[in-house]
Amino acid sequence: MESGKPTVAIIGAGMSGICMAIKLKDAGIDTFTVFEKADEVGGTWRDNTYPGLTCDIPSRYYSYSFRPNPEWSHLLPPGPEIQEYFRQVATERGVRSRIRFGTDVTAATFRDGRWWLTTPAGEQAFDVLVTATGVLRMPRYPDIPGLDSFAGPTFHSSRWDHSVSLPDKRIGVIGTGSTGVQLTAALGGNVRLLKVFQRTAQWIYPMPNPRYKAITRAALRRVPLLNDVAFRFWETFVRQFYGRAPIRPGWQRSLAQAMCRWNLRLSVRDPELRRKLTPKDQPMCKRMVFASTFYRAVKRADVDVVTEGIDHVEPRGVVTTDGTLHELDLLVLATGFDARAYVRPMNIVGEHGRTLDEAWADGPAAYRSVAVPGFPNMFMMMGPHSPIGNQSLVPIAESQAEYALWWIKRIGEGVVVAAAPTEAATKQYNEDMKASMPQTIWVSGCSSWYLGRDGLPELFPWPPERHQELLASPEADDFDVRTA
Ligand code: NAP
Repeated sequence: MESGKPTVAIIGAGMSGICMAIKLKDAGIDTFTVFEKADEVGGTWRDNTYPGLTCDIPSRYYSYSFRPNPEWSHLLPPGPEIQEYFRQVATERGVRSRIRFGTDVTAATFRDGRWWLTTPAGEQAFDVLVTATGVLRMPRYPDIPGLDSFAGPTFHSSRWDHSVSLPDKRIGVIGTGSTGVQLTAALGGNVRLLKVFQRTAQWIYPMPNPRYKAITRAALRRVPLLNDVAFRFWETFVRQFYGRAPIRPGWQRSLAQAMCRWNLRLSVRDPELRRKLTPKDQPMCKRMVFASTFYRAVKRADVDVVTEGIDHVEPRGVVTTDGTLHELDLLVLATGFDARAYVRPMNIVGEHGRTLDEAWADGPAAYRSVAVPGFPNMFMMMGPHSPIGNQSLVPIAESQAEYALWWIKRIGEGVVVAAAPTEAATKQYNEDMKASMPQTIWVSGCSSWYLGRDGLPELFPWPPERHQELLASPEADDFDVRTA
């Protein structure tokens, strides 16, 4: 470490990694390197480019609190605009020059009090490791017999092949999560035929997406305070409504569930189609899907919701369990992501040669979502039990980055050499969280990517602002701290 500035390795140049880099720069710690295996920033917003991609969190709140964007075009921001926003912020805040693009970190090992990163160029040591590898990053491919035999193009929603023309195609979309619903709404009526293969019906929360007028953008450009007011307004709304509805019974849950039920009843009059689209589980048990045009799309004659199970795929298309062959030209897998991947496949090795996989043998667990016992000076962005369900991940990243910064500054001051949460504090924190899970809607009986191997949600069962408060007040007593 030189002149009180610890060296920091940030893995990932998505929204969280850029945030961490900016917080470090603002604190005068310019001794950081961001490792990014792709050749551009943006993470999930770089990788996902499918038609209809839109963030379902209001744009004014899906922004860094320190960098409002008066230019958002819609209440809910389109994916390409979000990507452009993160690119712009990374450039204007001078982060880009600190990113090593095209560099895959395959391992990080804590040895002799430092983190040694392995890249194709060799090993390099840092005082602090920050993992910012995102949440839903690794596509989950379905295990459907014959999938490889399909004659037309097949790709995962997050690996969209833009060289394939769409209007002339009979397209099959497998999956009806947030992605499948957005895709259906965008493709319905714009392609020759659309078949939506639905294994489990989803509740749809009606969410209109109005365009911002030029006068609104001009006002926000001229009066910066308006941006803050809008941010706080949406922060309060999203936290008080979407943040509370799933975690405990109350008017927020009743209203959100009623809105989903009314939406289906009022939007789909055909009893047969409504029956197909009626979920068996409670609204919000799975991650709530927001959409305003999905039902309109599936009512079209050239859109078919197929509810028979998929038996296999053959060269001409998908064969369902009733023996029907659904002939297709293109197959899109909107089948989700491995939400348990976290930092994998990177191999993280902590004290005494213990790997993160070994530490997490019983499932991923962290202290306040950011640190893990036995892994000193390692901080995670979007670690286990971050409050990510139907919330803006941007303020979560800001809180986690501030927390990491608090420790990094102490390491820089020489007050702390190495710090990791104690087993006891981490165990207590996780037990408290698990005790609060039964009142959440997530355990009311459905399968979803929220649930861990133990059947419990890997989410935060308390109001989102509690997470922010926990990270704003670090408790050094909960840590094993090695001093100089
Ligand atoms: P997802 O919610 O995990 O949904 C995957 C879908 O694929 C489900 O309908 C699932 O059915 C189906 N599926 C999986 N394997 C299948 C198989 N073998 N056969 C048939 N169907 C199969 O994935 P996602 O839609 O990509 O969304 C993941 C998350 O990304 C969202 O929950 C959200 O957090 C995020 N996202 C956010 C936005 C946004 O606007 N902010 C947009 C898109 C995605 P089952 O339900 O039966 O398992």
